[in-house]
Amino acid sequence: MPCQSNQELDVLIRKVSPYTKHGKVADYIPALGKANPSDLSIAIHYPDGMCISAGNIEKKITLQSISKVISLALVLLDRGPDYVFDSVGMEPTGDPFNSIAKLESVSPNRPLNPMINAGALVVTHMIKGNSVEQRLQRLLSFVQKLAGDSTISYCEEVARSEFETAYLNRSLCYFLKQHQVIDENVEQLMDLYTKQCAIQMNCLNLARIGQVFAMDGIDLKLGKRVIPHDIARICKTFMVTCGMYNASGEFAIKIGIPAKSGVSGGIMGAVPGKFGIGIFGPSLDEKGNSIAGIKLLEMLSKEYNLSMF
Ligand code: GLU
Repeated sequence: MPCQSNQELDVLIRKVSPYTKHGKVADYIPALGKANPSDLSIAIHYPDGMCISAGNIEKKITLQSISKVISLALVLLDRGPDYVFDSVGMEPTGDPFNSIAKLESVSPNRPLNPMINAGALVVTHMIKGNSVEQRLQRLLSFVQKLAGDSTISYCEEVARSEFETAYLNRSLCYFLKQHQVIDENVEQLMDLYTKQCAIQMNCLNLARIGQVFAMDGIDLKLGKRVIPHDIARICKTFMVTCGMYNASGEFAIKIGIPAKSGVSGGIMGAVPGKFGIGIFGPSLDEKGNSIAGIKLLEMLSKEYNLSMF
């Protein structure tokens, strides 16, 4: 079994920490601009419950785009793949996560996949419930179940900061509404989406969720299945094809681990059949991925031969 001790991860963190100086933290959501660029932490969660970690693991991060994998799983559970993929495609775009360009050029005007913002907004729109509060609570309960932590909630400051400045996401919503892909009040959807993106946890929680996907939906610690096999497989496939923004191809070739990143600097990895990984390093490269986080995954993958390809 690869990587057994906190000390091994400590060594990796030390090797990689100079990379935190290279990128910059996301600030288009003003509250994220307050992050400390030199933060770096990692946790690995094994199916038997063993967890190893290094760095400042108590630090909480907002999920941002990582939440897209979890909302997709919930909506697939709620509505089934046929319903969901009638409105969102399955193809990578090669474009930035918040691009509006391809929405106009594909027919029908459905977003190309659920990992870009346009697709994620459609997925969030599909979360069942009678109010934003009820839909958010359903999503939070699902996240808490996957992470095995009933205290997980969202960060009000980050949610509000994004809600007040999300002009591009609003324009995606209005485009989707014009073309009848969604039929919801845009402010209401933005309220739910920004709270979803602001769901907050530490990298131990993140590693445990990654582990559930790594084990195709089974939480061995609980001794039960928490996500149906086919749904876990769909989510993991999207992590491979579009999980690392428009760097997903290079990431698959160099690292070969299903993973999803977020602009807060989080990365959730799911090494098939082996373990889950949670990383936090808010200094980002130009595509929006954690610079040091990618380096950590590259070293882990090489050292322990983790590529699935
Ligand atoms: N809340 C962010 C947005 O919609 C998520 C983006 C991301 O992490 O890629 O812009």
